[in-house]
Amino acid sequence: MREIAPQLYDCIPKRRQKQRTVAEGLAGNFWARDIRGTLGIHEVGQYLQIWQAIANTLLNDEPDRLRWMWTADGVYTAESCYMAMFHGSKLSEAWKLTWKTWAPPRVKFFYWLADQDRCWTGERLRLHRLPHNARCLLCDQLPETIHHLIVACPFARQVWHDIATWLRFTCRPPEGDTTLFEWWQAAKQRTPKPMIKGLRSATLLVPWMIWKHRNDCVFNHAQPSVGIVVAAIKEEAFLWVRAGAKGLGSIVPMSWDVH
Ligand SMILES: [Zn+2]
Repeated sequence: MREIAPQLYDCIPKRRQKQRTVAEGLAGNFWARDIRGTLGIHEVGQYLQIWQAIANTLLNDEPDRLRWMWTADGVYTAESCYMAMFHGSKLSEAWKLTWKTWAPPRVKFFYWLADQDRCWTGERLRLHRLPHNARCLLCDQLPETIHHLIVACPFARQVWHDIATWLRFTCRPPEGDTTLFEWWQAAKQRTPKPMIKGLRSATLLVPWMIWKHRNDCVFNHAQPSVGIVVAAIKEEAFLWVRAGAKGLGSIVPMSWDVH
């Protein structure tokens, strides 16, 4: 009772809680007579739940035994125990974009957090009742979610468009109705094989730089500027290439005049 109806359980006198057996409680619905005091809405809800749950329960003389709940036949297996550890966990495919991509670890980590919606955007701050800007600082139109910021925001779309032109993407830049991951999955189908490694790096580089620019606007009161972000992305891309990003190196135009 304590596990399935905690509030109702609190309405039962302490001594009864300790002494009453399941068999006694079930007999003639004796359990209902143990309840004392006035019941609130939660207690009544739990009362009805219990009532329904035990309506067709009949005890027999067979001794109690433990039953493993993670297999159909109730028998323990190491495999089912291992699988049970993942019960309720969320599946994320973000690793497919970070695992083999050339990008600094902090950039990969940022994308990982972004994919889990764990970045401290205006919307996330609002949900946690913390001080936040009501609208995205880059466009001043919509609430700031991570998807909005790195894909859907008109500001972000302009940045994506400029970088897609610069790197001669053979696919359309992200347009906001799909997640970055979905866009990337479709984009790589439309990209010649030798360009895919470069596309992977660029897919992580652009959101990272938009996020840094956004932080500059939020914390240092910088003015949003597509030109500044695009120039910064180009400079950062050259640094990545010099640090070993071969794939990106094969798609970045050779001109070093980044402005
Ligand atoms: Zn925006």
